[in-house]
Amino acid sequence: MLNLVLFGPPGAGKGTQSEKLIEKYQLVHISTGDIFRAHIKDQTALGQQVSQIIADGNLVPDSITIAMLEEEINKNPHAKGFIFDGFPRTVAQAEALDKFMESINERITGVLALDVTEVELKQRIAKRQEVSGRADDAADKLTKRIEEYFNKTIHVLPYYEAQGKLSKINGIGEIDTIFQSLTAIIDSY
Ligand code: ADP
Repeated sequence: MLNLVLFGPPGAGKGTQSEKLIEKYQLVHISTGDIFRAHIKDQTALGQQVSQIIADGNLVPDSITIAMLEEEINKNPHAKGFIFDGFPRTVAQAEALDKFMESINERITGVLALDVTEVELKQRIAKRQEVSGRADDAADKLTKRIEEYFNKTIHVLPYYEAQGKLSKINGIGEIDTIFQSLTAIIDSY
């Protein structure tokens, strides 16, 4: 199985590149942000539990996120592989993911980290908000999300670096150029 983690701050282009990657490699896309938004839209119990947390730009507690992720993996027993987008966002999530993969005799193949400057991120998300209308794309909530990224999520990088699984990719430039950089790494696994 090819199991990829696509990593990067809010607005790095994870969603855009994931769409292209799942098509090329026939992977199941697991975006925790998308799954949470679907729960909120459907007003499930989980959706009601997390909607305010997400609207404020905070991270959802690990226990809730990890349980949801395991459930999503279990829904796809015949997958050729997974692409994890927006997960893991904390070291505890990364450890839980490793443990879970091991329990199904699988492993994370590699971690692709999209590198984008903070100035570029803010510009991209301001643009995206005009279209998406996502409450958490508003300027003050975005600042909170970027803060969560630099406080909690960035520590996931050394975790995977220590395992020799981390590749950094320049996330600024043409979508297709970035995609080619990603596929060159994936094809070398
Ligand atoms: P973006 O990549 O644009 O920041 P996402 O769509 O990945 O946004 O996530 C939106 C929000 O959903 C996050 O700000 C957070 O509140 C919640 N969320 C998504 N994934 C996780 C996760 N792995 N752990 C905790 N919270 C998460």
